[in-house]
Parts: sequence; structure tokens; C-alpha cells
Amino acid sequence: MSDFPTKARVVIIGGGVVGASSLYHLAKKGWSDCVLLEKNELTAGSTWHAAGNVPTFSTSWAIMNMQRYSTELYARLGDEVDYPMNYHQSGSIRLAHTKERMQEFERALSMGRYQGIPMEMWTPEEARERYPFLETHDLAGVLYDPTDGDIDPAQLTQALAKGARDMGAKIIRFCPATGVTQQEDKTWVVHTDKGDIACDYVVNAAGYYAQRVGEMFEPYGGRKVPMMVMSHQYLLTEQIPEIEAWSKENGGVKLPLIRDVDVSYYLRQEKHGYNLGPYEPNCKAHWDTDGDVMPDDFSFQLWQ
Ligand SMILES: Cc1cc2nc3c(=O)[nH]c(=O)nc-3n(C[C@H](O)[C@H](O)[C@H](O)COP(=O)(O)OP(=O)(O)OC[C@H]3O[C@@H](n4cnc5c(N)ncnc54)[C@H](O)[C@@H]3O)c2cc1C
Repeated sequence: MSDFPTKARVVIIGGGVVGASSLYHLAKKGWSDCVLLEKNELTAGSTWHAAGNVPTFSTSWAIMNMQRYSTELYARLGDEVDYPMNYHQSGSIRLAHTKERMQEFERALSMGRYQGIPMEMWTPEEARERYPFLETHDLAGVLYDPTDGDIDPAQLTQALAKGARDMGAKIIRFCPATGVTQQEDKTWVVHTDKGDIACDYVVNAAGYYAQRVGEMFEPYGGRKVPMMVMSHQYLLTEQIPEIEAWSKENGGVKLPLIRDVDVSYYLRQEKHGYNLGPYEPNCKAHWDTDGDVMPDDFSFQLWQ
């Protein structure tokens, strides 16, 4: 491959949303002499199957701030890089079943407002007015976040990749990083079957392969990346006539996303049906025993 780069400032391993975002942001800051290596196609890891919900809520200031930044970026990115994409800021209502949960929400609301997110606390009755299908008998109140929503994660990754490429960064697909070597001057060489790339920094953005990529650095003092793979799912319903009728009556807008941390699920309008995403309390760990090892490739695949 004649135009295969032999040098870069940064090599990013992994072409999911995190790797593409890293490449885009480095290029934005002027580091466009960077290369992203993806062993399959962009988004082949977790990213292609993400539900794409984009919250801002957090009880951590820093995480809320990063998420707020993301919502602002996603709202302008399509135009900025000329890659239109589906981003719906439908808003969300976060259900509080107890007074203690309300207190938590009030604290998050104060942080949110300070960061410029116009969150509101609603009574169950107010929530019902805005979300007519809601059962409110066991609610203490709700937190409304108008900036919450959902994005197509594959489109987002491609938009970030386009923006990075347009600024001069390189993306090499179907090119796994097979190992690294640290040279005497502390710079790195990333090995691939297509050639080696010398660089100052390596970013491990390998998603559920991050521990395996991390092992490449163990001879050089790298620590084991602490992680565990779990299966996770969402369910899509058929179209629901009541939702279709409500959407039509309301000028085609989407219902706000429901988030319920006590029962542990989100419920999002998807076309005229629902996407129900549980955060499984008894979720199953995978690829964690000798008889169940991580496959070399799981691109675009799902569990049974
Ligand atoms: C069912 C489901 C629903 C989800 N819903 C949401 C949601 O609503 N909102 C949300 O924010 N998140 C959600 N997530 C989580 C989200 O998908 C992940 O957090 C995100 O996609 C991780 O991106 P990543 O770039 O870190 O990893 P990945 O997308 O896994 O990308 C890693 C990439 O690295 C590549 N790679 C691995 N090893 C190498 C190597 N040696 N050389 C080169 N390339 C390599 C892989 O091929 C892969 O493409 C959901 C996930 C699932 C499964």
C-alpha cells in the first residue's frame, strides 16, 4: 500500500465513536497528522448497535459538562462537516418515585442550570399533561431535560470521521493493530500487516477489545485495562396507533424520552412505536472464562 503512513503524531486504535471523536478533536486542535486504525469497518464494534440516547443528566459536574458539550456539538456537527444526520432533541422526563430521588434531581438541576441546561422540575400532573400516556400514581415528581434526545450513532461516527479527514487526518480501515514496540527515545511503533507507523502517542479506543489492546503495552509498564464485557439489549415494539395519533396531533414531534433509574429502564419513541431499554440487574458477563474466550472478530454481530 504505497500511501500507507510511516509516521504520525498520534495513532488511534479503534474506529468506533470514541476513536472517531478523538481523531476529530485532535484535528480540530491542529493535530491533523494523526492516523486511526480500524480492524474492520468504522462502527463495527459496539457503536453500530447503540440505541444512541444522548443524555446530559449526571450527578457528576464533569460528566454533565462533557455530555452538555456533546449535545451542543451534535446539534451543529452535521452542518459543520457537511454530513447531515438524524439528531432528535426530544427532551426527557426522568421519573422520581421517592422524595430522596427528587432531592438528587434538584441537585442535578442546579448544576444543569449553572451549565446552561434549562432543566425543570415538574409535578406528576404537569408531567401527565406533557406525556398523556404516563401513569403517575407512584411518582413524586419528574425532572425535565429539554436537551436530552437521541442520535444515529453510525451517522455520528461517519460525520466525525469526515470532519477529521477533511482536516487532513487519516483513517485506515480493515487494518488491525497487531502490536506495539517502544523505542529507546520513548516513541512508539504500531505494527500492522500493512506496515509500521512510528508515533509519539497511541490512543487505545478499541472498545470491548481495549483490554486486549492494552496487553500490547504490558511489556512497557502498561497496566491491565480493568473491564468486563456484558450483553445488553433493547426491544423495539411494533407501531402503536395511539402514539402515531398523538404525534400527528402535535405536529410530528416525538414524545420525550422516559428515564426511570429506580425501575432501571429507558423508554423512547422510535418512529411510531417504542424502544425499551432495560439496564439489566442480572446482566450476564461474557468472554470471561477459559471456555468462553473473546473471539478474534465480533464485527457487526449480536448475541442470540
Ligand atoms: C444495545 C446497546 C445499546 C446502547 N445504547 C447506548 C445509548 O443509548 N447511548 C450511549 O451513549 N451508549 C449506548 N451504548 C453504548 C455504546 O454503544 C458504546 O459506549 C460505544 O459505542 C463505545 O464506542 P467505542 O468507540 O468505545 O467502542 P466500539 O464501538 O466497540 O469501537 C471499538 C473499535 O475498535 C476496533 N478494534 C478493536 N481492536 C482493534 C485493533 N487491534 N486494531 C484496530 N481496531 C480495533 C473494533 O473493530 C471497533 O470498531 C449501547 C450499547 C449497546 C450494546
